[in-house]
Amino acid sequence: MAKYIFVTGGVLSSLGKGIASASIGTLLKSRGLKISMLKLDPYLNVDPGTMNPYQHGEVFVTRDGTETDLDLGHYERFVGIQLSYYNNVTTGQIYSSVIEKERRGDYLGGTVQVIPHITSEIQERIKIVARRDRAEVVITEIGGTVGDIESLPFLEAIRQFRLKKGRENTIFIHLTLLPYISSSGELKTKPTQHSVGRLREIGIQPDFILCRTHIPLTLEARNKISLFCNIEKQDVIQAIDVENIYEVPIRFEKEGLADKILKKLDLSVRRRNLSEWSKWVKRANSPGGEVNITVVGKYVTMKDAYKSINEAFAHAGAAHRVRVKQRWLEAEEVEKDPENSLAGSQGILVPGGFGLRGMEGKIRAIQYAREHKIPFLGICLGMQCAIIEFARNVAGLKRANSTEFDSHTPYPVINLLASQRKVKRKGGTMRLGEYPCTLQENTFSFEAYQKEIVFERHRHRYEINNAFRETLTNCGLRIAGVYPKEDLVEIIELKDHPWYVATQFHPEFTSRPNFPSPLFRDFIKAAL
Ligand code: GLN
Repeated sequence: MAKYIFVTGGVLSSLGKGIASASIGTLLKSRGLKISMLKLDPYLNVDPGTMNPYQHGEVFVTRDGTETDLDLGHYERFVGIQLSYYNNVTTGQIYSSVIEKERRGDYLGGTVQVIPHITSEIQERIKIVARRDRAEVVITEIGGTVGDIESLPFLEAIRQFRLKKGRENTIFIHLTLLPYISSSGELKTKPTQHSVGRLREIGIQPDFILCRTHIPLTLEARNKISLFCNIEKQDVIQAIDVENIYEVPIRFEKEGLADKILKKLDLSVRRRNLSEWSKWVKRANSPGGEVNITVVGKYVTMKDAYKSINEAFAHAGAAHRVRVKQRWLEAEEVEKDPENSLAGSQGILVPGGFGLRGMEGKIRAIQYAREHKIPFLGICLGMQCAIIEFARNVAGLKRANSTEFDSHTPYPVINLLASQRKVKRKGGTMRLGEYPCTLQENTFSFEAYQKEIVFERHRHRYEINNAFRETLTNCGLRIAGVYPKEDLVEIIELKDHPWYVATQFHPEFTSRPNFPSPLFRDFIKAAL
């Protein structure tokens, strides 16, 4: 039978609950346990695929093509697992499914209510993860902050879950913030007391409290939390700010968190194997140089919008023992003055995106990278912009465009496939998830992957229009990878360039600390 860990958050959002949950996953995996992870999101959207990055941050895509919360990216990177549709559950999904059952007549005669119907549905989804992933331990993170109206049914569900499964099979971990007041030189515990108070009101007594803090946890603060939150002193765990998120598991291990969890879950204490992880962190923390990469995007003020790209840079940097200094530029700014804004870039990356705003700036940045022979990596919309740039400025197809931005363009070099033209509903209908890509030998991409077939994840509606393939390749564009079944172009490159690669897929989603994305790794190498 599986064991269950529930992680809740208090006081405020953005405390790093996702990273804390993922780090617990890393630790338990290092003890030889089979782990799965689940994120419960209290919002009403069925999935985050329809939300914009300012609302939600990055939309992470799993191998099976589910658009999920960005925390699933942390889980995959930290625990080294592959997740799916079942590992991210939203209020929208829970209600849809309960209403569907009601219409079918499954509850015939009964009044359908939040308790027990919604809460049972939530518990069912937790158990499905244990079953499907054959997990020994399922770590479930509850989105939002304790006290939110939206998260109440989830909290009620996990309270019931413990009652049914027993104390030795379930634990509650609560992450809070201890603000530091410099004038009194004190760590304040009151917000934690209040937040735990609210949890206890609904019947949840945390087994551990993770205290996010800027300075080391004082004995006084520990004692207070223990007393007021009804928890043993040793179970008050310090979660101190770190420079590198991958250090968190190591910090938790120093606090003895894994041993304490194993004990409470009545699991035998097994030997740890964290040495690979620690070695990697040491390497990442001691760069011997740096490299300047400019990213030209649209949501650059929103730090979470390109989470997986940030992480892929960290992995690729560590592989070369350099710090990747990222400069994020608003595409509209670049459009005004490409030469000045891009000066000093050792590499230029144009990420994915949607919508017209910033398009021309991205195209200018790509032209700059092509003409100044600066290593370039284009991803998804970045690749589509590269095609447009090449068509307009090299192949002489003036006003070439994507039909996403100009439906009357004389040269629709990027357009919708027939299958996409039929699509009416926006949710979950893009080309999503993992597809194979066959690589051409003697290309930058083949050089990077060293394989004939690679699997990478997609999230887009538009594609390169095959009608222009010949015109573009005759002018020097190289098709380095295709999706063979439908003959879709997946990777383009330029021959007379030190390193110029653009992909229709998102290589950042599969990058891992010890297994950097081959394309990011070689992009950084070329930039160096
Ligand atoms: N907007 C483009 C499309 O839908 C690119 C999407 C992306 O960059 N993820 O095809």
